Amino acid sequence: MRQNNRVSGGEAKGNEMPKLSAWTRDAALIDGRWCQVDGSSVVENPATGEVIGTSASADTTEVDLAVRAAGNAFARWCATPRADRATYLQRLLDAMYERREELVATTVAELGAPVRVAREAHVDISLEILASYIGMLHQEEPVERMGNSLILREPIGVVACITPWNYPLYQLVIKVAAAVAAGCTVIVKPAELTPLTTYMLADAVVEAEFPPGVFNLVPGSGNGVGNALTTHPGVDAVSFTGSTGVGSQVAARAAATLKRVSLELGGKSASVVLPGADLAAAVRMTVDSTMLNTGQSCDAWTRLLVPESWYGEAVALAKERAAELVVGDPRDEATDLGPVISAQQAEAITGYLDRARERGAQVHTSHEIGESDGHFVSPAVVWDVGRDDEIVREEIFGPVLVVLPYANEDEAVELANDSYYGLSGAVWAHETQHALDVARQLRTGQVYLNGAEFNVEAPFGGFKRSGYGRELGRYGLEEFTEIKSIQT
Ligand code: NDP
Repeated sequence: MRQNNRVSGGEAKGNEMPKLSAWTRDAALIDGRWCQVDGSSVVENPATGEVIGTSASADTTEVDLAVRAAGNAFARWCATPRADRATYLQRLLDAMYERREELVATTVAELGAPVRVAREAHVDISLEILASYIGMLHQEEPVERMGNSLILREPIGVVACITPWNYPLYQLVIKVAAAVAAGCTVIVKPAELTPLTTYMLADAVVEAEFPPGVFNLVPGSGNGVGNALTTHPGVDAVSFTGSTGVGSQVAARAAATLKRVSLELGGKSASVVLPGADLAAAVRMTVDSTMLNTGQSCDAWTRLLVPESWYGEAVALAKERAAELVVGDPRDEATDLGPVISAQQAEAITGYLDRARERGAQVHTSHEIGESDGHFVSPAVVWDVGRDDEIVREEIFGPVLVVLPYANEDEAVELANDSYYGLSGAVWAHETQHALDVARQLRTGQVYLNGAEFNVEAPFGGFKRSGYGRELGRYGLEEFTEIKSIQT
């Protein structure tokens, strides 16, 4: 890993990126047609502060039209045989493969994601997930029998997919692929900060010749389009990913029309290192998890819990690893961390660190951030904190790792579970069985033992205020179904 502790914003390299016109969009995709929208919003490159594109910003008129189109298309799409749905999704996958480099460059430009992260953790994983749903559709439809009953799963209807800016393509693909594979029709609303990759997904849908109304794109604000979708009587289900505060509003508003709601919200996940574990590997992978996507991952392991006797060494190892990471121009293949999404986000992160210092915490920022119009922040390691300090309890959504000591295994489990959230986590031990015993005690939706790999078919979702419902694989598809029993 290249050492680079001094950071400044990148200058535009121009021809590595798609032309601006690809990023200047003024329409919503409704019923298979691009419909021009009066409102618009600008898209900024977080690495340079430059405006790089525009998006349509629709309102309730377009929401009404899209809901009607999705409702009209539902009956036919739901009756379309699984093998035919697989063919449409395969054509979509092919069209997205053709756009792979463009999708990567656009993710770099609109989010500031480092190019390597954009390729692997944004684009390629999205393609892999789409492929996994195609594979599922090629299998026979599972029909359960229970005594004299047939238990069927039928598509729920019209689904609104509302997504955040942190993984703009991935968050949308996991919803759209599962819902469309299940036989639902969708209306998607990307975050206003990062709509451009969603436009490319929509272009690929058009190229794949989906039946009109199966996929509709209505870009716009959360308060406008997001709220209208959440309350619209023609929408049967809302699949929302975003902050816990907005997620709870969405659930409350959707309750008026009794919509099915699934919520993928925030996290403050613990990485528990047990005595006997490989401390160096555990710290390295925990730091890398915290810093992935420039600290803007909901399932990051942002609390490192270590035995008291390893506390000093763990802090030293974490600082060392943070210093090795390259912060800089996200277009550079060597870069590990780019800018965060906005000036507001950078200020929020700095504010957390300042307040932690004022309360007596040790805060180590590994990189000196030079003058830049981009929203760069340094990776930070924080220790000597109280367990109730805000930096320990709140999701920061930036590259900030907190290290905490524990006296014994019971306290490790108690500390790990002492969170409003319960999205992810890690356990490190010498024996896998020991790690598994501890993992079973964690109140969280996913746990990784000794650095195990992400599985695109394993259910993903939260306990507690990390939300409810599951995404990915069979469980993700079933989220978009109703259960019917037929007695024979
Ligand atoms: P927000 O909750 O602010 O926004 C998420 C989406 O909801 C955006 O498209 C936003 O629109 C929209 N929205 C905002 N207000 C409303 C509303 N009243 N009704 C309906 N929709 C609305 O989250 P961020 O975009 O700031 O994303 C960061 C947060 O998302 C973090 O807290 C993170 O933990 C969480 N997250 C959780 C994940 C998980 O899987 N559990 C994954 C990724 C992120 P717009 O912004 O365009 O106005």
